[in-house]
Amino acid sequence: MPIAKSDKIWFDGQLIPWDQARVHVAAHVLHYGSSIFEGIRAYAIGDQPAVFCLDPHVDRLFNSAKIYRMEIPYTREEIRQAILDTVAANQHKSCYIRPLVFRGYGSLGVNPQECPVQVVIITMEWGRYLGAEAIEQGVDVGVSSWQRMAPNTLPAAAKIGGQYINSQLIVMEAVEHGYVEGIALDTQGYVSEGSGENIFVVKDGEIYTPPLASSILQGVTRRCVITLAQELGFRVREQQIPRELLYIADELFFSGTAAEITPIRSVDGIVIGAGHRGPVTERVQAEFFGITSGGIPDRHGWLTPVTAS
Ligand code: PMP
Repeated sequence: MPIAKSDKIWFDGQLIPWDQARVHVAAHVLHYGSSIFEGIRAYAIGDQPAVFCLDPHVDRLFNSAKIYRMEIPYTREEIRQAILDTVAANQHKSCYIRPLVFRGYGSLGVNPQECPVQVVIITMEWGRYLGAEAIEQGVDVGVSSWQRMAPNTLPAAAKIGGQYINSQLIVMEAVEHGYVEGIALDTQGYVSEGSGENIFVVKDGEIYTPPLASSILQGVTRRCVITLAQELGFRVREQQIPRELLYIADELFFSGTAAEITPIRSVDGIVIGAGHRGPVTERVQAEFFGITSGGIPDRHGWLTPVTAS
């Protein structure tokens, strides 16, 4: 999906024109993946955009920075406000928001600590990540030959740029094999997650999702899905999931900021359930899309309205 340019990018504290937001080729991040980032959506609620789960995303950004020993030169409140200001400055009704904190120009040694920590916030118009039809029809996926990283190699719970080489390998292989997305197992062989999504399994009226110990990113949407599913009366178990449970599930779906809630209709060519979106997925989707379209009241305080700056 090509990038749709916006007018402005927030770059180290200032809103500057999109085309001027540049970094030097010797920036540490280009060489060693030394960045942390977030992916956030703003939804159109009436005429105004509202940012979905702003605080959990800002918290995760700061947690990633803490794990990676990176000091963000702004407070949480400043980053939070900068995100709102960028959405407002670009006059989006809805958009995808990408805050990125990276090590800039300073040294090419592997140790990043001599390089400045820089912050940008990019916003852009973005549609359905896995395709518009996917939300109803579901997607075909395959279990990847690439595993998620072992817990003592890279910290899966942190959203660190360099770690997305793992996700890139997973999604490229999947597409090469004719699938929309890949599902990675953890190093013990249990189901972990998609290249950019968490996964849920519906079986005999209960809902399962891998635990944090299965090398997953702690998805913000995952947490919302758990809340909504519990409110609908479902029991949600965070437990290790063997690969074969995917094949015999009644329903499977992905959750993620980009993918939102996307049903999975086949895994490795094996049809899941009825081969299209199942009733549990549909009920969770109805709540999620109801809240993010303004049709259902935002009872959890998930939406932060963006007021014109
Ligand atoms: N796992 C990975 C590897 C991801 O990149 C993402 C997207 N951020 C997710 C899960 C879903 O997380 P969230 O719901 O916070 O977008």
